[in-house]
Amino acid sequence: MALFDNHGRPINYLRLAVTDRCNLRCFYCMPAEGIMYVPKKELLSYEEMERLVRILARMGISKIRITGGEPFVRRDLVSFLWRLHERPGIEDVNITTIGGLSTPYIAELKAMGIASVNLSLDTFDRQRFLEITRRDEFNRVLDCFHALLKHQIPTKINAVVMEGKNTQDIIPLTELTRQYPVSVRFIEEMPFNGEGSHYPVLVWTHRKILEVLKQQYPTIEKLPDPPASTSYNYRIPGHQGTVGIIAAFSRTFCGTCNRIRLTAQGTLKTCLYDQGVLDIKQIVRSGASDKAIRQAFEKAFRNRAKDGYEAEQRRGEQSVSESMSTIGG
Ligand code: SAM
Repeated sequence: MALFDNHGRPINYLRLAVTDRCNLRCFYCMPAEGIMYVPKKELLSYEEMERLVRILARMGISKIRITGGEPFVRRDLVSFLWRLHERPGIEDVNITTIGGLSTPYIAELKAMGIASVNLSLDTFDRQRFLEITRRDEFNRVLDCFHALLKHQIPTKINAVVMEGKNTQDIIPLTELTRQYPVSVRFIEEMPFNGEGSHYPVLVWTHRKILEVLKQQYPTIEKLPDPPASTSYNYRIPGHQGTVGIIAAFSRTFCGTCNRIRLTAQGTLKTCLYDQGVLDIKQIVRSGASDKAIRQAFEKAFRNRAKDGYEAEQRRGEQSVSESMSTIGG
């Protein structure tokens, strides 16, 4: 069954944040002292998430990405992932992780048939990793990277490109694609840092990142982008992997956006930049039937902003400032 929004865009992809907690403190995601985590009872339970996934799968969602916070901070995550894999209609389950806690579970992820893992890694330098994430976890993240390769799980490395922080890492990270069959994706920094501060003008736009790549690799080739891709994709002749650039702040991909988000607190977002368009947890906990929940989803999908700019505008006074850890990226 196909699901469409009011702009005729198919919706088939759910990003599900299973927690707002994280073991790192990446400065572009949250302040050093962390954020106010919501009380545990305010997080969706696994049972509630499974129910919502069942309803959404019947409506047309076929792909899920588990995110957070750090998904592996949540207890019993792996059993939940097994159950998601068994859910009729869900064709692929993916996960985004910072990696430090994930390594012991990689073999099991492979066994259950996880479709892909996105590993967040903004630098290949241990000291810069510590400065960016405020935690000395670099070696554990590398362990995770090698475990993913060993188990041949399709892997993407996500790196946020930040002025004055890690632009010197663009080439070393790209070099990973020479030796390894991974996709390295550079992401424009967004204002979701829990502080409300952002550059007035973004310096490291997707165009500037591409310039750096072209300068270093003049033979870099554009690849056709898969449908609903958020990244512009490239390959460097002779390299095993590929390179992607995600214009997350410039928002160039909204025209084909196929994704919705459920935050760990149970809020539906139909755009990363919206304020949350439906308190689905409240509806679920008020005893609503599956039919009523489905109708609430349908109503929200019929009122989706046409792009991230309109979604941001609809927030009114409430500017984009929440931590990505509460949204799920
Ligand atoms: N803890 C997991 C991780 O780090 O991969 C999953 C959650 S994290 C919020 C998801 C993604 O959002 C990460 O790749 C992270 O780099 C990205 N992210 C967080 N804050 C961001 C920001 N302000 N701008 C761009 N990307 C951001």
